[in-house]
Amino acid sequence: MYINFRQDKLHEECGVFGIFNNDNMANASSSDRNDSSSNRNDRHDVARLTYYALYALQHRGQESAGIAVTDTGTILYHKDMGLVPEVFNEVVINHLKGNAAVGHVRYSTTGASYRENAQPIVVKYKNGQMAIAHNGNLVNAAKLREKLEEQGAIFQTTNDSEVIASLLSKYRITDTCIEDTVVSMMKDVKGSYALIILTPRKLIGIRDPLGIRPLCIGMVGNSYVLASESCALDAVGAKFIRDVNPGEIVVIDKEGLKSIQTDVSEPSRLCIFEFVYFARPDSFVDGASVHQARIEAGKRLAAEHPVEADLVIGAPDSGLTAAMGYSMESGIPYGQGLLKNRYVGRTFIQPDQTQRELGVRIKFNAMKSVVSGKRLVMVDDSIVRGTTTRRIVQMLKDAGAKEVHMRVSSPPMKYPCYFGVDIPSRKQLVASARNVDEIKNMIGADSLGYLSLEGLTTTPLGAKCGFCTACFNAEYPMEVPEEANKLSFERKS
Ligand code: SF4
Repeated sequence: MYINFRQDKLHEECGVFGIFNNDNMANASSSDRNDSSSNRNDRHDVARLTYYALYALQHRGQESAGIAVTDTGTILYHKDMGLVPEVFNEVVINHLKGNAAVGHVRYSTTGASYRENAQPIVVKYKNGQMAIAHNGNLVNAAKLREKLEEQGAIFQTTNDSEVIASLLSKYRITDTCIEDTVVSMMKDVKGSYALIILTPRKLIGIRDPLGIRPLCIGMVGNSYVLASESCALDAVGAKFIRDVNPGEIVVIDKEGLKSIQTDVSEPSRLCIFEFVYFARPDSFVDGASVHQARIEAGKRLAAEHPVEADLVIGAPDSGLTAAMGYSMESGIPYGQGLLKNRYVGRTFIQPDQTQRELGVRIKFNAMKSVVSGKRLVMVDDSIVRGTTTRRIVQMLKDAGAKEVHMRVSSPPMKYPCYFGVDIPSRKQLVASARNVDEIKNMIGADSLGYLSLEGLTTTPLGAKCGFCTACFNAEYPMEVPEEANKLSFERKS
């Protein structure tokens, strides 16, 4: 039996990356192109760059990883369960030679955690081959799949991204170009998607009309890259160019980058949790610094919920930046009150009932010399089930803390997400049926304060977008399935 150390945190969706190498394409003469062996050796190692980028995006998904490459012809790929360094080695990377690549790290939201569901999805269809990497979740995937199956389509996985692949294959038969095919697919699907499609000659980036999931464009040399977050651009030495706009299709080929803007009728709704927890602090998303947004959230939290205390600490790692902001605003010193064991992996052998506390203690420990005798403010980004928070509060008190005042840099999370974030069902969310006082008693804190929704939405300073906040206020940006049907697509398989 294994315990999942991350079960009391939200799970990230997925991370995507793509590169189209124009450096060597531009330099290659036609005779070079005929000499495939020398030409291959000269080219940017697109698989290696994708591997580095996926490393930088690892926080967005730890269950599986994959890379597909094309050398203006056949698509080669490798994908498997595990972290990026577990899935790829030198031999595999050396085998994946090409001039363009797409990569994916996955945490499953729709579709169980099996190898067959790992991405990129590579499909062969009448007009050739394509590889697809998807971050997000389609709310109408089950209906679309049923309809496609009635028309004779066959599905290999339980992954909603395969529905996208099937639609693309279907429309590509009659459309004269892949761009038209993508537009047709976008008219059918509803939900969140940051997509990268690799065809033998093109790399295509697509963002859903509400821009729920992030996607940005960068350049390394003369080559364009696409990535979920700007931290992946930094990892490959690429310069940030801009974010892909909601509803935009960017098509990259040897001629350069072409943009197709589809009709967008509503204001954008980027997932606010990118700033709260998902995105890496060194990333910029839709014009705002993730680090700065977390500092701001801590500052506003201090203004909204002040308390007399001796020390501000953060829950590692998710609450550290907001804790710094709380300290700056309140003037209460910031310290390291909890230590995280950085060598603990994703799972650990489950302790028995009497040793339940050990699971948390192996991951975290209180710094007695720091917290003993102190009135603490402990900051975290969110409380999901509340079980880990309760154990950490108890751990701090056992270590001699006089008081523990819990502060949360987002509002109470009460509703499920249908757009690619694995939020437990309502009955597992501690805030869905309890008020703040009841949660305070449940976690054993001396006081509890959550950042207001108004406060949170103003923290991404300079952001050029609106936000989805549905897991806090149930204001979903589109019609969503009944919660009871949330997993019906998966159960069906
Ligand atoms: Fe993000 Fe919550 Fe909206 Fe899901 S419901 S996209 S987690 S803000």
